[in-house]
Amino acid sequence: MRISFCAQTDPAPWLAALRQHLPQAQVDVWHSGAARADYAMVWAPPQQFFDEQTALRAVFNMGAGVDALLQRQIRPELPIVRLNDAGMGVQMAEYVCHALIRHTRDFALFEAQAQQGLWQEPPVLDRTDFPVGILGLGVLGEQVARAVQHFGFPVLGWSRTERRLDGVRCLHGQAQFAEFLAGTRVLVNLLPLTPQTENLLDRATLSQLRPGAYLINIARGRHVVDEDLLALLDSGQMAGATLDVFRTEPLLAEHPYWRHPRVTVTPHIAGRTVLQDTVLQIAAKISALRKSEPIEGLVDRARGY
Ligand code: NAP
Repeated sequence: MRISFCAQTDPAPWLAALRQHLPQAQVDVWHSGAARADYAMVWAPPQQFFDEQTALRAVFNMGAGVDALLQRQIRPELPIVRLNDAGMGVQMAEYVCHALIRHTRDFALFEAQAQQGLWQEPPVLDRTDFPVGILGLGVLGEQVARAVQHFGFPVLGWSRTERRLDGVRCLHGQAQFAEFLAGTRVLVNLLPLTPQTENLLDRATLSQLRPGAYLINIARGRHVVDEDLLALLDSGQMAGATLDVFRTEPLLAEHPYWRHPRVTVTPHIAGRTVLQDTVLQIAAKISALRKSEPIEGLVDRARGY
């Protein structure tokens, strides 16, 4: 069995981990003209990779989102497998809880007050004023919902098909989108980027959130129409945003998000790919496929995720 590794990262630790978990495999870094492999582990591979690697039996994406990978021409019968959690869920939950609590408990305000030596107490928080709506109740959205629930916030969720989660007001489909938005004050985006979800968060949808809404976007930049979000922040209709993902990454130096007083920018770090968890998961899936056993995380290309 031959495995090809193709990602813009130092390959040495990845190859070492793959060889440790699949000692029978020949693992190589891909280069033009490389021998044809049976399996591939990739992040943002060039089209040439798929043009040359015609013997692949499955390709493993080193992330949960496959929007970039699906831009490539890939033969239709080749299974594409994305990461299921692999250590990202807990990071996403931490990130959302941090942003949510920083906003609702006024930590940014206290940091500013401390600069001036000001001792001022805000009113006591009523959590029922801050229902948290989670767009996407998949592998990561579900873990975020559980973490947020732990802090006593009301939680709503929205998915494509019907989902049931204890204590979460689960809504689904276009027909229930307006109800979801109207019930949400803190909006957390965890949708995959697909033709159906691109530009979903525009003036029309964001305006339907409760007044003083707050956006936490940890999915993809192209879900949000930036000019619309900025206009709603500037008008005071929305209270703020914590953004981890952007249309162009790195975020351009001149982008207004950097300097906006109510926007917090982080450099696409909400859920980092964790080497050991990732390799362990992919090695287990390769072993399962070789025994014709079912695996989780197969991408449905028609659905786009
Ligand atoms: P997932 O398990 O595939 O879950 C996706 C969820 O979105 C599902 O609940 C799905 O509904 C819902 N959905 C998809 N299309 C929809 C639509 N048109 N309308 C309503 N709901 C829709 O994905 P995941 O593993 O949780 O990952 C989610 C995304 O997080 C990834 O695609 C990636 O873009 C992003 N991500 C970001 C980072 C970061 O560092 N910022 C790290 C990892 C992942 P159903 O339940 O009905 O299928």
